[in-house]
Order: sequence, then C-alpha cells, then structure tokens
Amino acid sequence: MATLQRPDFVYMNGKLVSWEEATIHIGCEAVTRGLNVFEGIKGYWRKGDGFGLIFLEKHYKRLLRSAKLLHIPCPWTYEEYKSAVFELMGALLQKEKDMWIRTTLYVIEGHWGEGTKADLIMTAYHQPCEEPQPINLGFSTWQRSGDNMLPARIKTSTNYQVGRLARIEGKSRNFDDMVLLNQWGRIAEATGSCILMVRDGIVYTPLSTEGALESITLDFVEKLANSLNVKFVRKPIDRTELLIADEIAICGTLAEVVPVKMIDTNKLEAYGPILSKIREKFFRVVRGEESEPYLDVDLVPVAKLRH
Ligand code: PMP
Repeated sequence: MATLQRPDFVYMNGKLVSWEEATIHIGCEAVTRGLNVFEGIKGYWRKGDGFGLIFLEKHYKRLLRSAKLLHIPCPWTYEEYKSAVFELMGALLQKEKDMWIRTTLYVIEGHWGEGTKADLIMTAYHQPCEEPQPINLGFSTWQRSGDNMLPARIKTSTNYQVGRLARIEGKSRNFDDMVLLNQWGRIAEATGSCILMVRDGIVYTPLSTEGALESITLDFVEKLANSLNVKFVRKPIDRTELLIADEIAICGTLAEVVPVKMIDTNKLEAYGPILSKIREKFFRVVRGEESEPYLDVDLVPVAKLRH
C-alpha cells in the first residue's frame, strides 16, 4: 500500500509549522463542503543550475482562475506565493530528490458563499529523479462531469472524487490509470493527467472543452512537438480512435510524460517513435540538459541544505 510521506514542515497561516501542528477546524468549509482549489508544482534538480521549479507563475495564475470560479478570495500576490514556496523548499529540499509541491487554498471561514476566507497551505513531497515506466490504461465507467456540473476547468479536490472512484475501479481490473469519458462518450482525460495520442505521425489531444483540465504540461508538450516539427492537434477524440492509436501517453505535472503499453484490451508500442522523441526532449529540458525558451524555471537558492 502506498503511504503518504510526512514532511517535517508544511506552510500554513503565513509561516512554516511542523507536520503535527498543521491542523484545521472540523467546522470549516474545507471539511464541510470539501471546498478548496489547489495546484501541484514540480521541482527538478537541473544540470549545472541547481534546483528549479517549473512554470510556477502559470500554476499561480491557474489557482487564481479556479478560485475565481468558486468565489474564493485569494489575497496572496504572486511574490508572496513564490516566497512561501521558496521558504518550504529551503526547509525540505534534499540532494538528488525532486519535489512535488501541493499549494492549496483551503476555505477556513464562510457559509454557502457568504464571508468566504481561505488560507494558503503548502505541503511538499520528495520524489526520486527517475523517469516513469510504461503503464496499462483502461476506460472507466465513471464519467468526467460536464461544464455545468462540476467543471473540469476548476482544479478543486471535489473534482477528484470521480478520479478516485475510477482508480479504485481500475485497480480491480489491473489498470494503472483510467481514461474518463465525457458526457458525449468521448475522451476527456485520465484521473490526474491529460491524454496524448498519435495517429499517422500526428499528435492529438482532446480540447479542454471536452472535459480536460487546462493543462500546463500539455501546452509545454505542444511547444516541444512544434520544435521537433511534429504536428500537434487539439480535437474531440472518440474512444475507438484511442483503441486504434499508434502511440499513447499521459502527461501532467506530476505524471510528467508516461508511455502507455496497453489501452483497454489492446497492446501498443510503449516506446513509439513520435512520443519517445517528445518524452526524451521533455526530460532533457526540465533537467537543464537542453534549453527551450518556453520553459519557465525559478531557481531555488540552495546554498545550505538542511538535509
Ligand atoms: N487533468 C487532471 C485531472 C489533473 O489533475 C492534471 C494534473 N494537474 C492534469 C490534467 C494535467 O495538468 P497539468 O499539466 O497542468 O499538471
């Protein structure tokens, strides 16, 4: 069973506190209605550069968009947000371990939209500096909700209830992750990442209006594909198109770019030529082995590591 790491420190109430001290009241909206919006950010050890957080400002901006849609005020400026992430990194960074940072606006006060107040909370987890292995992907019987239900565009924990059910369903059928279809029966996304598919040398991905999060990694992958002269197209995708795809991968901040070796009952080439080229470039760029102007990196000062 996977157990969650318990980092020594978390960020809460404007400062670092120990894991044990970081508690919220059971009466708050975050507990009663699961009300929060969040962002997961990835930091990599980079060749020559030290430790870098990627696309930090894009994550902050998406956090604001999610908060706006749920009417959660966010009084933190980008500079304050960034300095909180840096403070936490200063306390937790370890050599040769990448990090995934979860930054969440938890609603601590309010009632049915009146007097809503949130706190900015951050937890961060160590990750091995390794590339992901190919996975089996299934189709879930659970559905990605539509834009007038629980919009996929909002990155809020309640949206992950369906993903959780899909993962439980997938596990019982030996799948590592599951594709969620939308209300029209077309491909929306995976439980925590977007879908990439190759047919006849072209990379396709569903539009966000099909029920996919507006993915920061997907925009990056599009730029990488362009730089490699690979055509990248966003369009509605049927389930049967995925079943006959030449190559498939899932992508996201935490997932990175993961090859798919099996879709439902159909085997496929995990390391196909097109997505391998993109995946390899992705890792060279985030690790600082190759430059790519689109990549946005914030280097964290790491003169003295606690660990
Ligand atoms: N869809 C879902 C449901 C996700 O949780 C994520 C991860 N944030 C993604 C897609 C990919 O988004 P991003 O590339 O911005 O991480």
